[in-house]
Amino acid sequence: MPHWGYRRRHDDEVLDPEEWCKEYPIAKSNRQSPIDIDTSKVQYNASLGELEFDYDPKSIKNVVNNGHTFTVSVGQTDKNDITKGPLKHKYELAQFHCHWGSKDEIGSEHTVNGKQYAAELHFVHWNTDLYKSCGDAIDKTDGIAVLGTFIKVGKTNHPYWGELLPYLTKVLHKDQAVDITLPGGFHAANILPTNTKDYYTYEGSLTTPPLYESVTWILFKEAVEISKEQLETFRALMSTKAEDAKQQCISDNFRPTQPMHGRVVAASFK
Ligand SMILES: [Zn+2]
Repeated sequence: MPHWGYRRRHDDEVLDPEEWCKEYPIAKSNRQSPIDIDTSKVQYNASLGELEFDYDPKSIKNVVNNGHTFTVSVGQTDKNDITKGPLKHKYELAQFHCHWGSKDEIGSEHTVNGKQYAAELHFVHWNTDLYKSCGDAIDKTDGIAVLGTFIKVGKTNHPYWGELLPYLTKVLHKDQAVDITLPGGFHAANILPTNTKDYYTYEGSLTTPPLYESVTWILFKEAVEISKEQLETFRALMSTKAEDAKQQCISDNFRPTQPMHGRVVAASFK
């Protein structure tokens, strides 16, 4: 069976995003992500309050290269939640990961007025009020909440990304993993925007197969800056195993934007 990826390679049968629908028909359904946020059509919603975060730095476990991205896994604890904002339930952080481009002009999955950012960070949470596990929640319409943060290239190193990036250099190849051993853990909220938590929100899907239409998307208006050198650490990751004869980088691991099908993006700000 062909496996999915982001671009066609001639030496094997990788399904690129336009072909995902062959194995995952939901790819053509009407609640797919990512989308372009057309700010002229966004509707301010006065009832959308601030999101509340309560992340436990000690719960950050390890970094895994899965061949499509790096994933920072989070152990379950009794306080690792987001609530409020557009959410009617409590959602617990399971993992976070990124999408990025081979050059600075491309990389993010969501776009704003057609503009793509250099990268996009996804904090994946699942509904602990209604479901027993992330696996149980992942295909339910209210199962998942993802916080999305745009990343752009700035002049200075981001100090908190700087704590994580040395671990990425230890998982250069697919299926490699390394434990995060920072004294005091890692404060995940430190890599979110700091000046404002204003956000856009809409109902969408996972952006990778199986593309379940289970995600309440919350996308921060403010982008976070990291240095060019820090972004190069993402670009050095390989989609291939250490023993593979032919090596290939993970790059341009973003899905193109999908049709709105009448959906409306709401904003917490005017
Ligand atoms: Zn993602």
